[in-house]
Amino acid sequence: MSYRGRFAPSPTGRLHFGSLVAAVGSYLDARAHEGEWLVRIEDLDPPRTRPGAADQILADLEAYGFKWDGQVAWQSDRFDAYGEIVQRLAGAGAVRVCSCSRSALSRLPENVARSGDSGDELFHPLACLEAAAAPGRSLRLRVPDGPVTFADRSLGLQSINVAATVGDFVLQRRDGLFAYQLAVVVDDAAQGITDVVRGCDLLASTARQLLLQRALGLAPVRYMHLPLAVDERGLKLSKSGEAPAADGCDGERASRLVSVLEFLGQTPPPALLHASLDEVWEWARRHWRIDGFAGCAARTAPQVAC
Ligand code: GLU
Repeated sequence: MSYRGRFAPSPTGRLHFGSLVAAVGSYLDARAHEGEWLVRIEDLDPPRTRPGAADQILADLEAYGFKWDGQVAWQSDRFDAYGEIVQRLAGAGAVRVCSCSRSALSRLPENVARSGDSGDELFHPLACLEAAAAPGRSLRLRVPDGPVTFADRSLGLQSINVAATVGDFVLQRRDGLFAYQLAVVVDDAAQGITDVVRGCDLLASTARQLLLQRALGLAPVRYMHLPLAVDERGLKLSKSGEAPAADGCDGERASRLVSVLEFLGQTPPPALLHASLDEVWEWARRHWRIDGFAGCAARTAPQVAC
């Protein structure tokens, strides 16, 4: 079976326990399948990109002993490709040019009900709110009504109704920047990614990405979502927030890796706590199993000193 996986961090801050979980899960799954593992820096949104964060992430990955295949890809090199794909979708009639303002959308009952919800994009009805014209236009994918179903390798069959939850979603923003959903699908296809392994926070995005793959005539990627690491208050760890960085004190990385394995439902023997990084990786690759994740329920990340 051919397998090509990837880890695709946004350089908004340093790696933390949650991003390490996604890196370790995607890496081990690729290596256990004797597949390739690529790294892509998702520096798509210049205002959110932190100077130096990408280099720091790559240095941290190296220090942990990750070995990626090929060159690191950068989304900031890919804006022309994203523009061409949006044009192709527009030519096929798959794009809605939308002049709705954010404030008009946020007044819709569906969005009022969601206030305080995650940073996900606002619901947009399938019929555009022509009356709410505002300067600037976003380009959105015309979304079919009805559920998107797919088999997650760990969670089983999933059914997500994109039309009812976010509606026509953004491909290119009013300020001209390309949306994450577009860039990730275009890049996964361009890099020949067969398998995406990442946190459950992106489960809803997977349905959007499958719709985009369909609109572009691409073969669907296989997906597997990992439990989400949260802090003691139940909040998702985020690179741009206050989550402690996973840089690890020298000598602490092997035990940090063991705690990531435990978080992922692996059963590392206690002796591994005193092993070298190489020995931990070797054990983890040989014993990788995907039946211990226990669903998408958020789990508290262990407190670590460094
Ligand atoms: N860039 C995204 C993040 O750092 C991950 C994208 C993905 O894995 O599809 O959260």
